[in-house]
Amino acid sequence: MTADELREKLTFYRDLGVDEIFVRQAIALTPDVSVLPKSPVIPQQGVPVASALPSLAPEGDTLLKIRQDIGDDCRRCRLCEGRAKIVFGSGNEQSGLVFVGEGPGADEDAQGLPFVGRAGQLLTQMIENTASKEGIPIRRPDVYICNVVKCRPPENRAPQPDEMEICGQFLFRQLMAIRPKAICAMGSTAAKAVLGTKDGVTKLRGKWHKWRDIPVMVTYHPSYLLRAYNQEAKREAWEDLKKVLHFVYD
Ligand code: URA
Repeated sequence: MTADELREKLTFYRDLGVDEIFVRQAIALTPDVSVLPKSPVIPQQGVPVASALPSLAPEGDTLLKIRQDIGDDCRRCRLCEGRAKIVFGSGNEQSGLVFVGEGPGADEDAQGLPFVGRAGQLLTQMIENTASKEGIPIRRPDVYICNVVKCRPPENRAPQPDEMEICGQFLFRQLMAIRPKAICAMGSTAAKAVLGTKDGVTKLRGKWHKWRDIPVMVTYHPSYLLRAYNQEAKREAWEDLKKVLHFVYD
């Protein structure tokens, strides 16, 4: 592996939120610090302009190829143990907008589709009602929806860093294959995976950030919004969604 390839690989993992790496075997080489990524990922603000992505994905990568690479019985991490179905993603594969959630819940695990339970119904309403009020002619099937991890974490716990690292490579390939005009990261797991930041959603939401060259809007996870006391968060999420929809579809 050349220094450039190693730098690219380390940057890839850093973008995923991995800030420690472990070497399985002792290596005889003196580490070359010049190949390490020079600076942490700094989310950028202001309305961004999309441009070409550096390629980390295999040449000619497609969603079909990524799905095939995951396989029908993925056993790369412990989440396979309690999973019924792998939840890859759904929607328009050429969409200008990708929503990223955390991981499947019980309904998604049973159906093999993302955001089909209560949180999913709220997400559908949010997308369709906001679009309709804003005069933007899109429905849920016009966007693409996926998660950081593709298998349901037990008891709906948050995915652990190694699970995010392993499955994150597929999320990143999905994002690179689709190359949307914008990404909407819903909740702290998605924000952490996509932006590689430890900042919370309250701090990140409502502003533009970037994953590689793609503008990223962070907003609340629909499950959080389902809690009755979150009226203010709901209003803020609607504002975030308006920004994303206008950016992508105006
Ligand atoms: N929550 C998520 O993060 N993803 C889903 O697919 C469903 C609920």
